[in-house]
Amino acid sequence: MTTMTMPLDLVRDSIALRVGELEDRLPEPLRPLAAVAYNYRWSWTPGAIDVFMAVDPGRWEAVGANPVRLLVEASRSSLEAAAADADLVARIEALAAELAHDLDRPSMDGFDPTTPVTFLCAEFGIHESMPLYSGGLGVLAGDILKEASDLALPMLAVGLFYRNGYFQQRLDATGWQVESWQETDPELSPIVPLVRDGEQVTLTVPIRGVEADAQAWVVQVGRVPLLLLDTDLPQNSPAVRWTTARLYDGNNDVRLAQYVTLGIGAVRLLDRLEVQPALLHMNEGHAALAAAELIAQRVAAGENYDDARDAIRDRCVFTTHTPVAAGNETYPPEELLAALPGLGDRMGIGSTGLLNLGRIQPGDPREPAGMTPMAMRLARNTNGVAERHGQVARGMWQPLFGGDEADVPIGHVTNGVHLPTWMGNEFRTLLDRHLGDGWWRRADDPEVWAPVADIPAAELWEARSLARSSLVGWAREVAAKDRLRRGDSLEWAELGMNGLAEDALTLGFARRVAGYKRLYLLTRDVDRMARLMAGDRPVQLLIAGKAHPKDDGAKAMVRELFANRGNPELAERVFFLEDYDIEIGRRLTAGCDVWVNVPRPPLEASGTSGMKVVLNGGLNLSVLDGWWAEGYESTEWGPNGWGIDGSVSDDHGRQDHEHATALYDLLEQQVVPHFYDHDADGVPQAWVTMMRASLMTLGPQFCASRMMHDYVRQVY
Ligand SMILES: *Cc1c(COP(=O)(O)O)cnc(C)c1O
Repeated sequence: MTTMTMPLDLVRDSIALRVGELEDRLPEPLRPLAAVAYNYRWSWTPGAIDVFMAVDPGRWEAVGANPVRLLVEASRSSLEAAAADADLVARIEALAAELAHDLDRPSMDGFDPTTPVTFLCAEFGIHESMPLYSGGLGVLAGDILKEASDLALPMLAVGLFYRNGYFQQRLDATGWQVESWQETDPELSPIVPLVRDGEQVTLTVPIRGVEADAQAWVVQVGRVPLLLLDTDLPQNSPAVRWTTARLYDGNNDVRLAQYVTLGIGAVRLLDRLEVQPALLHMNEGHAALAAAELIAQRVAAGENYDDARDAIRDRCVFTTHTPVAAGNETYPPEELLAALPGLGDRMGIGSTGLLNLGRIQPGDPREPAGMTPMAMRLARNTNGVAERHGQVARGMWQPLFGGDEADVPIGHVTNGVHLPTWMGNEFRTLLDRHLGDGWWRRADDPEVWAPVADIPAAELWEARSLARSSLVGWAREVAAKDRLRRGDSLEWAELGMNGLAEDALTLGFARRVAGYKRLYLLTRDVDRMARLMAGDRPVQLLIAGKAHPKDDGAKAMVRELFANRGNPELAERVFFLEDYDIEIGRRLTAGCDVWVNVPRPPLEASGTSGMKVVLNGGLNLSVLDGWWAEGYESTEWGPNGWGIDGSVSDDHGRQDHEHATALYDLLEQQVVPHFYDHDADGVPQAWVTMMRASLMTLGPQFCASRMMHDYVRQVY
């Protein structure tokens, strides 16, 4: 039996209500599927997707891989056919039993389920059907919840329910990004109102000084409840209702209101639920006001500021993700105070004290203030997200702490990715066969990966080839559809379909489009790139990425790619896949042979997409920055990927030139020859050796279980 605790009871009962409603719509034999649909555990349970697809063939894609909507909208006849399929019903029962068993396991040793770690973040990337994320930060947060669930670490998460999520991306015929936003309907999604005594739980948050109403929801991620707040209530003004409309709204005042709702709202929500968290983990600065609110509560109870701060610091930890000063938003004093009137007084330090908490140099009245310094001052532990990022952060924040850089109290926990989410079927099946039962639960142990050395080369190559063809089959359709939608000719769309080959070396480049990621390096020497790609050993390149709606510079970078669209050699080999999301990320990282990443050092805090590629037998070709500075190594098998110099330079023009040259040289001289040099059995032995090196050294090091064990040992 799991220990009964108040918040978990509320969560369980709230979900049971919705599950019950859904069960009522389903034929008796399918009813166990309702509970599965309302817990994202299905998204990392092998076989679950096949079950949902079988319930109503053809509808899974139309409902955006959202199982609740699938079951609500499935036709009567499909449901009845599914209910009559004994094999399917048995698989459904097995899924439901596996879920129940997982929820019932005892908690990790040494942790009390009644005092969970509370994880706060502005975005959560759980699955493509729940659009509450924009990129790496959210996907990492999602992976943390999933891994905490797998490890049975008691955790509760709090975020915001953005009704319109992040934007959907289309490109027009010139390659210019056009955004649109879609409303999430909670009635048709696995998000349920958090209900107490028959009413949805509400609380108030001080938006621009006025207490506004917010309401609570829950999304169940395995054993971890993700509680979400929104302000879209009819009694609120339109401006207040807008607060939680869009993730990373372009308006500063709206974003500050979001930080109030997230930080202050989280603390008040925990109070309403009578949860005493063991620890508040603020993931990035957006949640910093949680610490401020904890102080305000103690000051209201009669404590002085210093004592209150010392007491709450003991319970707060902070992870920073941004190695660029500009990435840490700051606000002019007037703007911050207009968003947070009275907060400084409630904390016992006044407006000036509040501003100083957010400044690098307290006391400089002109310095704008931000959430990151506030979080660092109010947390007992701050960490970066890779070893190099820890160093960069110590240098960057040294002025805030004074003293020597080496003494700056910022450590690091290197990111990792949730293996069952990011390892595709092909490698999962292969490794399940060779690494023994339940190996994935011990994936942070290098010994577990040792048998990879003995997997026959032909099997590794076959898994790689299958993963690539499955990507290519999907990408052909998407690429043709994207081109037709942009208004390209039928010939052009077909050129794309026919150009993509199942056995061609496939490069992937997918990430948020921001200046420092240097998308433009790929086409810096277009002629050389075209020669490389269209040779008799062809190379194809799949690109995806969104630019922030307000970042015209990044949008121009995407459009520059399209300047080469008249070149038929490139049109057959280079594809921009619109609307990068978790599905596209999963498919690309599972299928690509080589993942290319060329950030300007030292601006890549970690990067995680290359880790997903590792799990699928893909290889990394990357600037030695972020996680790759730590991961790239020479092994007894030779190097585990390819690296480009990661040193810092102020001469950006020259560095761009050198890095582009290094990239093309590596592709021409090493990547292409290795990939196409097959032995008599059709296996590229040198390539497979590199795959082994990559899997065996990087698999255990960059999986989320290693990351969570580090958090447990070093931070929690
Ligand atoms: C993994 C992932 C990211 C983060 O990847 P980076 O390497 O940090 O660019 C961003 N977006 C999606 C959809 C992802 O799956």
